[in-house]
Amino acid sequence: MERILVSACLLGSRVRYDGGAKPMDDELMARWRAEGRVVAFCPETAGGLPVPRPPAEIVGGDGAAVLDGTARVRTAAGEDLTEQFLRGAGRALEVARESGVRVALLKESSPSCGSLRIHDGGFAGTRVSGHGVTTALLRRAGIQVFDEHRIREAAACLRGLEPPARGLP
Ligand code: SF4
Repeated sequence: MERILVSACLLGSRVRYDGGAKPMDDELMARWRAEGRVVAFCPETAGGLPVPRPPAEIVGGDGAAVLDGTARVRTAAGEDLTEQFLRGAGRALEVARESGVRVALLKESSPSCGSLRIHDGGFAGTRVSGHGVTTALLRRAGIQVFDEHRIREAAACLRGLEPPARGLP
């Protein structure tokens, strides 16, 4: 059975920077959980950051640029959290590999989990195209990452990876 890595905050864990969660009310997610497919993970807490914590944004690029060393993750006060974000991303990849995960559903717009858009590093609420640090690392490893609004695409991807049901000869 194909498993799926899911942002812990989408499953109701209160691990976001503001101490809250963003639980999804979705029948597919409920089914996946009942089937035991879901691997919950929060890269930022796994990277050693506390709850709550100051919001952080990628400055100078997106998650891929952070992996390449040309962008940093900072708080609005300028504290550099790049190492914690890289550690969390690395741990996410380890967990994905240990669990045999090939698909992930991660929270959009997060500097770790975003897959289509992230904040631009100006701390003014502006979003730009790009993905977060964890998404960038997972994608480089061949894992397909979707945001919570594309859960049906993630489901189609999982179905495509499942071995065909064995019929009677
Ligand atoms: Fe949710 Fe990802 Fe942020 Fe953790 S790092 S709170 S899982 S969006």
